Amino acid sequence: MSKIKVMSENMANMIAAGEVIEKCASIVKELVENAIDAGATNIKVNLNDGGIKLINVIDNGIGMDKEDALLAFSRHATSKIYKEDDLFFIETLGFRGEALASIASVAEVKLETCNNDIGTFVHLKGGEVLACSAADARIGSSFTITNLFYNTPARLKYLKSETTELNNCIQFIERLALSRPDIAFSLTNNDKLIVKTSGSNNLLKTIHEIYGLNVSSNMLEIKALSDDFEIKGYIAKPSILKKNRNHMHTIVNGRIVRNSDLNRAINEAYNTYKHEGFYPVVVINILVDPTLVDVNIHPTKQDIKMSKINDLCDLIYRTIKDALYQNLLIPNAIYEPEKNEIKTNFEELYALEDVKPEENKEQISLDFDTPIEKKEKNIEFKGLKLEPVGQVHRTYIIAEDAENMYILDQHAAHERINYEMITKKFADTKVMVTDLLIPLTFELSASDYRTFMSRKDVLEGLGFKIEDYGLNTIAFKGHPTWLKDGLQEESIKTIVDLVIASDKKFDKAKFLDNMAKMVSCKMSVKANEDLSFTEMEHLLNDLVKCDNPYNCCHGRPSIMKYSTYELEKMFRRVM
Ligand code: ZN
Ligand code: ZN
Repeated sequence: MSKIKVMSENMANMIAAGEVIEKCASIVKELVENAIDAGATNIKVNLNDGGIKLINVIDNGIGMDKEDALLAFSRHATSKIYKEDDLFFIETLGFRGEALASIASVAEVKLETCNNDIGTFVHLKGGEVLACSAADARIGSSFTITNLFYNTPARLKYLKSETTELNNCIQFIERLALSRPDIAFSLTNNDKLIVKTSGSNNLLKTIHEIYGLNVSSNMLEIKALSDDFEIKGYIAKPSILKKNRNHMHTIVNGRIVRNSDLNRAINEAYNTYKHEGFYPVVVINILVDPTLVDVNIHPTKQDIKMSKINDLCDLIYRTIKDALYQNLLIPNAIYEPEKNEIKTNFEELYALEDVKPEENKEQISLDFDTPIEKKEKNIEFKGLKLEPVGQVHRTYIIAEDAENMYILDQHAAHERINYEMITKKFADTKVMVTDLLIPLTFELSASDYRTFMSRKDVLEGLGFKIEDYGLNTIAFKGHPTWLKDGLQEESIKTIVDLVIASDKKFDKAKFLDNMAKMVSCKMSVKANEDLSFTEMEHLLNDLVKCDNPYNCCHGRPSIMKYSTYELEKMFRRVM
């Protein structure tokens, strides 16, 4: 029996009408998702000029018989939804049928497909069937789209440059490959291979195939489970952040989604580990009970609406934050072993004829089968006793213990110590206050004064004594004792500015964190400052007690490690 049924008119209306094909990537998306629905395990996308000249999608899924092949191009045909009720439990990627008809109406389409040993060839142009004949038997389907928008020149104008069209297609295929590590994808443009994944069903290997060795060897595995959600995936260590946010991949029930709440949760988890404007590489699979997902959002939109999204964000936030705390190691000093020293147990990767050009140079030494946590010898930093050796350039501290040599950035390390101290004081219910002999007064503009007064209770809760002097003037008569002597005035001025500058939508937690960062920076020893031996001892002692000794609160590294073995290698004492 024919697998494709014609939908009722009513249901067709429920589906947001007229899927707009506006770029080559939207055609690639429809064809590739069709292939996935046909059960393909191998999907090849070949483009000419970024798809503007030609789009060819070949899959090894179950093909179609002649009847289905013709029906596929008629409006409202779909093989996936039979009853209107099904619409509320859609777990497939979207609706097709309609899209194929739209594509065929504005281009020339050739389809070769085969089902049960009988091959079919269909040729359409502008929606009209030019030919339909028997063809050689093959596995799966092959769609070829040319002459895109030949009959709608206005639309043709909207196609972007070859580079933009191609980039959109690459991004789409890469995201899809990460959501389906079980499917082998390839993408070529003008016969040049751009993306290739092996369909190994191993997410880390897929990450490697998309991002290369530097990223895949710096990922942490995450897993978490709550009543409503299950999340698992990989997150990048903060040492390999990217300049744009396109690499945070969230996949809900197998579907790639872009959701600002989820992205924000991910970013905030990295908060103290990274600089502003840098984003992590993250691939998270989220399993949700489908009844929590609102399917009324049109499936071509990648956003998602979900009940309990806040619970999910919270789970993601905590899981990532924990993983970063637990797995962050003292970064190893950059040490490049000689190429022939690297042993690989992943030789088949060399065997791929078409590795990305930049990967050709790299020696690949990844083992994707051992769980990551087994590979890393987690250094228990707490309880370590580091002895200072000396100060270099009045900025860095050299230290040692029995096994390793360490280099610290004195400002970053001190800032981390102060940041954790201040955050702990914030949480403390017992507040110790130092009174100021001479109150510090600030004359503000009328609007700043009102903003400040509306938020002053937050500061009072921390132990600041504030008085209203009237005429837009405020006075500080006391401050919590942890504020460093001699720097009170400068610190309090910074805090006043921060209170006034904070968002209209005052977020207390964010404000406190910003304040802790700014004040700890102010309070910390700077570069180009002499440190005595005792001061260095104190600093090292305090740093090893920190929850995260590895970074300053802005994400810069605070300590690097050279093991004795690495030193011996460098000086060729050992081979
Ligand atoms: Zn600083
Ligand atoms: Zn810093």
